Amino acid sequence: MNQKGLLVIISGPAGSGKGTIVSRLRELAPFDFSVSATTRSPRPGEQHGVHYYFVDKADFEKKIEQGEMLEYAQYVGNYYGTPRKPVEDALSAGKNIILDIEVKGALQIKEKMPEAIMIFVMPPDYETLLARIRGRGTETEEKILERLSRAKEEIYSAPDYDYVVYNYDGKDTEAADQILRIIDAEHAAMR
Ligand code: 5GP
Repeated sequence: MNQKGLLVIISGPAGSGKGTIVSRLRELAPFDFSVSATTRSPRPGEQHGVHYYFVDKADFEKKIEQGEMLEYAQYVGNYYGTPRKPVEDALSAGKNIILDIEVKGALQIKEKMPEAIMIFVMPPDYETLLARIRGRGTETEEKILERLSRAKEEIYSAPDYDYVVYNYDGKDTEAADQILRIIDAEHAAMR
């Protein structure tokens, strides 16, 4: 049987702790992970081609024009987008591929590819969300406030997703495990 890979989209507002969960999935799971392009500057420790392709605005806009982006969105003053080819290649090779992207881009993909599995990572409460957004320590106050307001907007989109996974403090391993169980169940689904 020619099994197609699953396209798994993971979104979660700033402060959901999604980054830690995705790092854990990278360690555990034999999946491909889409490397996005962004116009944001690298944070300490981030590598070009591993965490992101760091490009300038002109390059990003050229990629959009040339149809190289499966989706893209603006987030807190920068472009972020998913290069189309690695996703198409993984799926046609029967591999699962995980995309860690924000809500607007996720909904663009769901329209084009309704078979995508959409998982929303939710912070347990507002105080935790705020503490996590402030905790990173690499952002200016202005960017923190922008991320906070975007986070509130994004939470309203959770009902558009197929699954919601709560990420309680100190329980990111459990949240990552829950995502793996969802993916397992989707492999067995008949629809
Ligand atoms: P950060 O700057 O914290 O790395 O990412 C900011 C937001 O952009 C996160 O919600 C992240 O999931 C999202 N993001 C990362 N890559 C992409 C992408 O390719 N497309 C879209 N639409 N969002 C992305």
